[in-house]
Amino acid sequence: MSVLQIGAGGVGGVVAHKLAMNAGVFGEITLASKTLSKCEEIAKSVLEKTGIKITCKSVNADHVEELIALINEVKPKVVINVALPYQDLSIMQACLRTKTHYLDTANYEHPESAKFEYKEQWAFHEAYKEAGIFALLGSGFDPGVTNVFCAYAQKHYFDEIHSIDILDCNAGDHGYAFATNFNPEINLREVSSKGRYWENGEWIETEAMEIMQVWDYPEIGKRDSYLLYHEELESLVKHIKGLKRIRFFMTFSANYLNHMRCLQNVGMLRIDEVEHNGEKIIPIQFLKTLLPDPASLAGRTIGKTNIGCYIKGIKEGKEKTIYIYNVCDHQECYKEVNSQAISYTTGVPAMIGAKLIMEGKWGGRGVFNMEELDPDVFMEELNTQGLPWKVLEL
Ligand code: NDP
Repeated sequence: MSVLQIGAGGVGGVVAHKLAMNAGVFGEITLASKTLSKCEEIAKSVLEKTGIKITCKSVNADHVEELIALINEVKPKVVINVALPYQDLSIMQACLRTKTHYLDTANYEHPESAKFEYKEQWAFHEAYKEAGIFALLGSGFDPGVTNVFCAYAQKHYFDEIHSIDILDCNAGDHGYAFATNFNPEINLREVSSKGRYWENGEWIETEAMEIMQVWDYPEIGKRDSYLLYHEELESLVKHIKGLKRIRFFMTFSANYLNHMRCLQNVGMLRIDEVEHNGEKIIPIQFLKTLLPDPASLAGRTIGKTNIGCYIKGIKEGKEKTIYIYNVCDHQECYKEVNSQAISYTTGVPAMIGAKLIMEGKWGGRGVFNMEELDPDVFMEELNTQGLPWKVLEL
């Protein structure tokens, strides 16, 4: 019995600790990433905190043949992809060729266009089905737990769901003038893109940060929240019956937005190559070099996150509204696994998805999004693995 994790960044650190804390289910744990020393650093902390030894390997996950060789060596039941969205297709390809189950936390993005969609990953469905293997897409928090919250609400609280607002509030303070909570390139590409939501069967596009609404978050309070496009919207419109509208909101401080607009205005968020002193550089990648490493925010971030789904619909002929959510404390995450809450809330669900695959509780033939599986077992795991949730009936 064994598991292979690819990616040793902020999220990867959490996944490795959580795999080790559930070593009875996962057996041998192998952690592979581009830079071996980053894997070894995580392995050291895992050993100190849990007494579990994990094996480290280096791999370039852009190369399918290299991945196949690694999978054949480790022989994992499931590959957990917590590298970057750019590697999704090559890792899915390697899993297909070796008939190994696959899991990730973010959908494929092409490095040259800030466009993220499931099309190319869903295109693996028939091949995975034929090979008899299972791919679980988006097993982080959002996407991930938010999809499971919707499936749980559909199963236990509603006959019909009419509207969903996914709310993502980070009230953490890291004390820097500007930093991103996860990979800056992925984060800034997402936030500076146009907004989009779905209503009455149509996608409606907005300018970036055009729609702002103040939401009142339990245990945090009122916060300015901005409408963004987020990838779980694409699968949820397919799978939640009777849905009329779905939107996604994320909180940003005025300070964060001022910095982002300024960086955008001077061209630092560009994702195309520019010539600089005779060398070609991509401005957003250079910016990533300058900004604090998200993993380094861990020890210094205080405050909480609140991420949940505000859902309206009908039960037994009556209108009903619920808010189903988790609150996570940055410092508690640091104490447990040396991480801040953004990486923690992504890494724990990635481990849970993999655990359910290992135990045979979640599975199937083909490529699946989270809301297509039975939410109850996942919801139980959230309560015991560090992400307890609540339902408010409003
Ligand atoms: P980081 O940038 O901190 O880590 C990425 C890791 O992937 C690094 O260890 C990096 O190695 C490794 N990597 C990059 N390219 C390759 C490659 N070609 N081959 C092998 N390894 C590679 O990112 P995060 O940990 O913050 O995020 C990880 C994933 O989680 C991302 O896909 C992100 O989008 C997703 N995410 C999902 C969320 C959700 O709720 N669903 C929320 C937050 C993040 P090196 O450092 O050596 O380059």
